[in-house]
Amino acid sequence: SSPFAHVQQLPRDPVLGITEAFVADSSPRKVNLGVGVYLDENGHVPLLDCVQQAEEELLRRKGPHSYVPIDGIAAFDNAVASLIFSGERPSLDERLVTVQALGGTGALKLGADFLRTTNPSARIWISDPSWENHRALFSAAGFEVETYPYYRADGGLDFAGLIQTLSSLPSGDILLLHACCHNPTGLDLEPYQWAEIQALAAERGVIPFLDAAYLGFADGLDADRVAIDTFAQAGLPFLVSFSFSKSLSLYGERVGALAVVTGGAAERGPVLSQIKRIARTTYSSPPSHGGATVATILNEPGLTALWHDELALMRDRIKAMREGLAERLRVQVPDRDFSFITRQRGMFSYSGLSKEAVEMLRSRFSIYALDSGRICVAALNKANLDIVAEAIATVLR
Ligand code: PMP
Repeated sequence: SSPFAHVQQLPRDPVLGITEAFVADSSPRKVNLGVGVYLDENGHVPLLDCVQQAEEELLRRKGPHSYVPIDGIAAFDNAVASLIFSGERPSLDERLVTVQALGGTGALKLGADFLRTTNPSARIWISDPSWENHRALFSAAGFEVETYPYYRADGGLDFAGLIQTLSSLPSGDILLLHACCHNPTGLDLEPYQWAEIQALAAERGVIPFLDAAYLGFADGLDADRVAIDTFAQAGLPFLVSFSFSKSLSLYGERVGALAVVTGGAAERGPVLSQIKRIARTTYSSPPSHGGATVATILNEPGLTALWHDELALMRDRIKAMREGLAERLRVQVPDRDFSFITRQRGMFSYSGLSKEAVEMLRSRFSIYALDSGRICVAALNKANLDIVAEAIATVLR
């Protein structure tokens, strides 16, 4: 008999299931708010001008497709370290390890595998709720995954619950935090709350791991660095996973980075060697095209400035869609408060829609959202905003 006869069928990915159902839907008014990507006003994943110009330059250079180093293109790693840590970089440089990774997911996986080798009995704590893949990824890396309170039933942030959990953690446990634009809730911590978390984590000996997949989507690259800056200024060890999927619309190129602030210059070499071993035994070396494209953009001031402008356009369009949706709902369902939509940050809104309401949106209006009620605000545009607002208002009435 086949060696695979006993292999069990796993349930399909719920997000992909929604996309399949959306594609099969024949309604001309259908809208997919279940996606996790930024779409432009025409409903397309944009090709940014800065990316196209960098790619044209790479093409003109006629470089061969040779291997890149295990830890990535040096010009990429160097530029990304400056992007992540900005003004704090000089103070960290001699103990900083930055390696190119396969998107934000690849960076998290490198970090997970590395942390697992350093302390196999550590647990990892993720927010409740969090990006679905956090639990799966850290479980697959061998971790026991626990949650800390984050989202309150009334739509607020459970900071007291977070602090209470953090106060009880043993030294060596890992605290995964969303650097900004929390996925799925859109709720971010205030600067004073970051400071409190940093101080408490330091006191407990807990290792912070910041997932930065949406830097630049809330208030801009500098403002969105508040969490990273808080931990960088403290000078204690922590990790950052970074993704260019959203901020450069480079989803399929798989470009990201893992940065590890080690405890001192003497730790830099050993830590880098461990991370290189993990990369080498997993995929050998990262893909060259995305890394070279990003390195080109970040190392040419003209292209960097263009990127900043294009990032601002994406950010502003999302904000306009938030305001448009909140305003329409306020008019159509006057007895409810929708101000949370404009307070939330990033690509998503945790809409507070029940599972039943999400189901009704799907069956009656061909509007697709996640069962959790998460909608992608970046999938709204002038053409579908009225349709979506009316449908949501109807299911809420
Ligand atoms: N972290 C979070 C919070 C995310 O939302 C995502 C992507 N949706 C990732 C990491 C992974 O990013 P990438 O697609 O670059 O692997």
